[in-house]
Amino acid sequence: MKGLMQDVPLTLQMLLERAERIYADKHIATKTAQGVRRRSYGEVVGRVARLANVLRDLGIGRGDRVATFAWNSDRHLELYLAAPCMGAVLHTLNPRLHPDQVRWIADHAEDRVVFYDASLEPALAAVGDFKTVRHLVRMNDLDDDSTAALDAAADYETLLEEADGAYPWPRLAEGDAAAMCYTSGTTGHPKGVVYSHRSSVLHAMASLFSDSLGIRERDVCLPIVPQFHANAWGTPYASLMTGANLAMPGRFMADPPSVAALTAAEKVTVSAAVPTVWFGVLQAIRSGQIDAASLQSLERIVCGGSAVPEALMRGYDELGIRIVHAWGMTETSPLGTVATVKSTIAEADVLRTRLTQGLPAPSLTLRLETERGDVAPWDGETMGELQITGPWIADAYYDPDAPDLRGGLDRFTEDEQGRRWLKTGDVAVIDSHGYVKLVDRTKDLVKSGGEWISTLELENLLLAHPKITEAAVIAVPHQKWDERPLACVVRADDGLDRDEVLSYLGEHVAKWQIPDDVVFVDEVPKTSVGKFDKKVLRDRYADYELPT
Ligand code: ADP
Repeated sequence: MKGLMQDVPLTLQMLLERAERIYADKHIATKTAQGVRRRSYGEVVGRVARLANVLRDLGIGRGDRVATFAWNSDRHLELYLAAPCMGAVLHTLNPRLHPDQVRWIADHAEDRVVFYDASLEPALAAVGDFKTVRHLVRMNDLDDDSTAALDAAADYETLLEEADGAYPWPRLAEGDAAAMCYTSGTTGHPKGVVYSHRSSVLHAMASLFSDSLGIRERDVCLPIVPQFHANAWGTPYASLMTGANLAMPGRFMADPPSVAALTAAEKVTVSAAVPTVWFGVLQAIRSGQIDAASLQSLERIVCGGSAVPEALMRGYDELGIRIVHAWGMTETSPLGTVATVKSTIAEADVLRTRLTQGLPAPSLTLRLETERGDVAPWDGETMGELQITGPWIADAYYDPDAPDLRGGLDRFTEDEQGRRWLKTGDVAVIDSHGYVKLVDRTKDLVKSGGEWISTLELENLLLAHPKITEAAVIAVPHQKWDERPLACVVRADDGLDRDEVLSYLGEHVAKWQIPDDVVFVDEVPKTSVGKFDKKVLRDRYADYELPT
């Protein structure tokens, strides 16, 4: 017997309609050179219709890719809505990538038009000629009268002013592509993830659950995680769906004084960014560069992208700001797990639980596959590769050369019931409550004499040391043991030496897990999205002679 309920397609047009009908008086604020620009959602919806007309006039049709090369802003949000809702596909390019990589990605996705922030014009000019891009549209985020340096770039506001204010939104299928985002490609070429309308709507809904990110109408959400990084972790769509005000940092993305000023001015209650950003803010408070009182309205911080160290969580606990630790990937939209604490967790285990990567969001299923190919038990000890399946998890990577556009299938596996699992490349344990604890990425693990050493665990310990500001542990080749750990440390105090670091670690881990050596570096290299770039360190120390 079939259910007799309406089969309404889940599309992002729902967000547009809801913003217009119910939240027209809520708003988005964007930090600009001239101050904060505020636009009501009612105004945004009107501008989105104009923008859809602009896109149509530029020749954009169903399924065409509309690229953005921009910081977090109201205009970027308008593109988040106009492109998918008219049936085109939003493609967020990452301006922090190398120009050759940006060009490769845009060519691979066959982008037709690029909307770019004027402050990123030099970066875009460095990319050179795209194969398929026909138009450039410049969004002036500098000052009112600067003009385009790139030939033939149209001005965003002028196009909008001249466009018609009504757009006949087409009927879309929920399986249609809504947006594309490429993984940052720490190994090999970046891979294109294609989000559908359905996956985007379900992901936004899931962000609103109180046991998830719990975004509510009364929140003011500040996504510091860029809109080009897994759609700012879905926070713009989620905020719009529930009518939360948004605060956008514009080109003043991650500098602590700007974060603090915007938080205070907009009374931000929830924010999202990688741990390095929050470390920067904490250090700025401790050094007196910013006043902790400016963060008074902030209730919680969504933090993920890399593991949250205990020192960071404790630092914000002391300020009365709760860090909500989450794990995800571009391929998982990105919300995968969230470390909310179940009522059955003993008081003594609460902090430890908050530091895990968390429980899978409702409708997602996890499993661990051991090196031998077995499914690992959830005993908190048996390690395996984390695999995930669910309605907002990628089913394939975009490949224009594959007959059905479905590529990269070696990163997926199918079970007897035909369910497809994404192989995450993360090694984890899962405890009997269902909490995931990431041990490492497969490519970062140190494989020493048949035993695995977690670089994450060592890094967390190092970061808790008062004389250390940054630390990354990498595997270096070793004749006898295959690989041994090397600690790369940024010290806060010149007095810190190798022996002090190693004997400190010796108090916390087994002897065979202690790194063989310590190198002091000025800075740990970061990826384009602010994570530690261990590949650079591995290359740098590939021939490092460990002491015998
Ligand atoms: P990239 O793979 O290029 O870094 P993503 O942004 O998609 O791009 O990163 C996903 C990866 O980031 C995950 O597979 C995991 O290794 C890491 N990650 C994300 N969140 C966390 C977290 N909370 N703790 C530890 N690692 C995390």
